[in-house]
Amino acid sequence: MQCPECGCDIPDDELFCERCGLSISPDHKKDILSLNWRATRSSFASLVFGIIALASVVFKYELFSIVFSLIGLFLSSYSMGVIVSIDIQKRQKIIIFSVAAIGSIISAISFIFGLQSQFT
Ligand SMILES: [Zn+2]
Repeated sequence: MQCPECGCDIPDDELFCERCGLSISPDHKKDILSLNWRATRSSFASLVFGIIALASVVFKYELFSIVFSLIGLFLSSYSMGVIVSIDIQKRQKIIIFSVAAIGSIISAISFIFGLQSQFT
């Protein structure tokens, strides 16, 4: 995770920042790690739901594509919201954010196509 004080990287098994000496409470650390895990899971899940939604559009299951793309959009926005607010490594943030962003784009496209073919 990232030090909330000086921003330098703290290894997962450390409870002190090597640079500024700030101590991290184990509870705070556990919270961040579990939020990080949830955001990571949601970002990949949103990608999976987005792909399923897109496949549903291709195979003309419009109703499925609408449902799956909404789940994908929900998961990706949850993931992006969480990931920008917690102190973790910048590189990790960018990767998880990108996965969620791709998931949300695919879901949004599937949603639009799903709606369009549902009502035409
Ligand atoms: Zn520090």
